[in-house]
Amino acid sequence: MDVFTTVSSMADAVARRTAQARSAPSAVPTIGFVPTMGALHSGHQELFHAAAQHSDLVVASVFVNPLQFDDQQDYLHYPRQLEQDLEVLRDSGVDLVFAPTLEQMYPGYPQGPLVRVTAGDLGQRWEGAARPGHFDGVATVVSKLFTIIGGAIQAGGGRCQAWFGEKDAEQVAVIRRMVEDLNHPVSVQEVGIVRDASGLALSSRNQRLADEDLPAARALSAALFTLRDQADRRAPLSVDAVTARLAATPGVELDYLVVVDPVTLQRITADSGLIDGNGVLTGPARALVAARVGPVRLIDTMALGPAR
Ligand code: AMP
Repeated sequence: MDVFTTVSSMADAVARRTAQARSAPSAVPTIGFVPTMGALHSGHQELFHAAAQHSDLVVASVFVNPLQFDDQQDYLHYPRQLEQDLEVLRDSGVDLVFAPTLEQMYPGYPQGPLVRVTAGDLGQRWEGAARPGHFDGVATVVSKLFTIIGGAIQAGGGRCQAWFGEKDAEQVAVIRRMVEDLNHPVSVQEVGIVRDASGLALSSRNQRLADEDLPAARALSAALFTLRDQADRRAPLSVDAVTARLAATPGVELDYLVVVDPVTLQRITADSGLIDGNGVLTGPARALVAARVGPVRLIDTMALGPAR
């Protein structure tokens, strides 16, 4: 596994290794790319494994992107453990790692970057409303990574598949739309959520939870499982009751629990056609939840409804 910290050395290596991965002059190798912010756990590993299974070469990036943090404390306390991460990456079948410095990604930061990507309305729904600028920051960094890595893959004669986790469902929706709108040479792939035995979605931020925070953290996924169970039984969704119970759980500072259209991320209402007069889902939907637990903000999500 090779690790690069500069944009030019990374792009050169990706183009060269892509060209080498061609089994015949006319063959088009598939290169998997997994962007991360590090502090890697089994959820990330699932992405590396999926990428390894479907591609000839796996590229990962580790970069804590300041543009997507609306809370400076969250940025400063975000776990950074590159040496440990490199071991995980090596064990997970990753071939090339991009771990750029802040100066490489954003020369002159915080003055730069001057030109940024905006996620528009789609970036202002739930996490976007709670964390102003978050999805613009995500779109900007992912756009840069797609240009650096996707561009080098294209130069080497390959095709790029970029892997993202369903855990950040709004992020996936924003990135899919960005690829369409900005014509990035990348196809977006999605991997399901990895949870621990209690149902808690794995997250780098879980490291900052104390033992006494865990029951509250687990209540988020428990609420989503309740809704999924109702959807599976074709029973009316009791979103209000589940929300009230979650909000009353000690240690949970609930921000939102909503059921949305999986593409537009807009709340499902009787007019949306995805729910009947009794509150029973008639089409695919997604539950999104966010809450502060102890020192961190946690999010979770679950696909609901007939055509999951
Ligand atoms: P992050 O390092 O938090 O930016 O996450 C990098 C990628 O890993 C994103 O596409 C996340 O959606 C994905 N990811 C994070 N947690 C999980 C999880 N528990 N299960 C599956 N994928 C995850």
